[in-house]
Amino acid sequence: MTTNPTTVALIAHDGKKADMVAFALSHKDVLLKYELVATRTTGQLLREKCGLPVKQMLSGPQGGDAQIAAQVAEGKIEAVFFFVDPLTANPHDPDIQGLLRICNVHNVPLATNSATASYIISGRAL
Ligand code: PGA
Repeated sequence: MTTNPTTVALIAHDGKKADMVAFALSHKDVLLKYELVATRTTGQLLREKCGLPVKQMLSGPQGGDAQIAAQVAEGKIEAVFFFVDPLTANPHDPDIQGLLRICNVHNVPLATNSATASYIISGRAL
């Protein structure tokens, strides 16, 4: 297991992608200190709208959440910012629940909304 992960994962459901872009723009200086990984569409937005270098996994419905969950389980991710939309059903809900569960199994910081994400990143900022 990696002992000093420096990667942050960023994921946003469609209804929360605007929140993610706003969050990333507000905290771009801190995010640039990390390796960034995201699901495909979220990552594309972060590249195009925020100019952030993001490694893109598969789209969430295609298994991207599961890919990120695996990296969390392997100790490769320091924090997960996963802005979930509580008002919309998702076909990949089992993967979403799996990622949340793996974060809790491994006690990895997990923000499911932008307010919590801002708390985490402000506290962690150098
Ligand atoms: P996306 O996936 O970034 O590819 O839209 C996010 C998700 O729905 O889990």
